[in-house]
Amino acid sequence: MTSYQAFTVTGMAIDPIHVGTGGARLGRVDLTIARDPVTRVPKVPGSSLAGVYRTYAAMALGKYPDCAGQGQPGASGQSGHCGKPDCPVCTVFGFARGQGGGFAGLAAFSDAHVLLFPIATREGSLWVTCPGALNLIGCEVTEPLENKLYRESNSDKPASLNLGWLLLPVEQFSKWGNIKDQLDNLNLPEYIWPKSQQPQQSQQSRKNRVGLLSDKLFSHVVNSNLEVRTSVSINPETGAAEEKALFSYEALPRATVLVWNVICKNPNHFQVGGNPISASINSTTISQPDHVFDVAKTAHPYLEHLGIGGMGTRGMGRLRVLHPPS
Ligand SMILES: [Zn+2]
Repeated sequence: MTSYQAFTVTGMAIDPIHVGTGGARLGRVDLTIARDPVTRVPKVPGSSLAGVYRTYAAMALGKYPDCAGQGQPGASGQSGHCGKPDCPVCTVFGFARGQGGGFAGLAAFSDAHVLLFPIATREGSLWVTCPGALNLIGCEVTEPLENKLYRESNSDKPASLNLGWLLLPVEQFSKWGNIKDQLDNLNLPEYIWPKSQQPQQSQQSRKNRVGLLSDKLFSHVVNSNLEVRTSVSINPETGAAEEKALFSYEALPRATVLVWNVICKNPNHFQVGGNPISASINSTTISQPDHVFDVAKTAHPYLEHLGIGGMGTRGMGRLRVLHPPS
């Protein structure tokens, strides 16, 4: 019996997404976003994902607000996480108190990484990726990459292309085989990646808008093409702008494609307060990793409407799940 199963999810930013670090200042930007410490590429930390998934699943399953949030009881000692073995939210996302102590939860969330990053070029929008990002969807690029933009053979291929202020030579990359199959599985919009298994389509209409960069260049290009916005704090009493309260913040631009994993543990290996897990989803008792994922998935429609990260009131953060389809 398998002890866990990882489910890959891809989503596209339909607003700029700002998941902050708590106010670190970097150059001209006041509010920076979270970054991977090694690659410096912006990411959405798994802890942030776990929080929004929990809140939205609690909304979807009629367990809001008690089983959402951090689970602290209110001033009267009431509410907070119920911590019951028949609660789909508390068993899947865990809880901090209850009979027999806390429970870590059946689902764990990886960080959400940038898989495809949109860049405006003179040929139109292009989405760039890199070996490190492709690795997250099971592709291995073993060939060393130079400081070039690599395209598939039947894509538009000018001799060089500007990515922001960088002008890069364009080269054909022959080893797209496995990469193509994996990208085909992710339900990407046709204008980014038309599926390759459509033989009736002409070569012309199958052009994709994806380019491959080395990991190092990818980090560079992403960081120089983030959205930086300037905003001003509003005084809630007067409704006017606060003096000296102009601030700037960075965000992943609209149409960035993110990928993350939901790791679902086998419910049969766990007990809650000495009892087997008896919660159910879609009238089925949660007894397999994919049932755990079914609970997490109830949050997906809410991600598209209520979003993730900060600045939600400034039109930021909505994320449309592309794969798996709901
Ligand atoms: Zn609960």
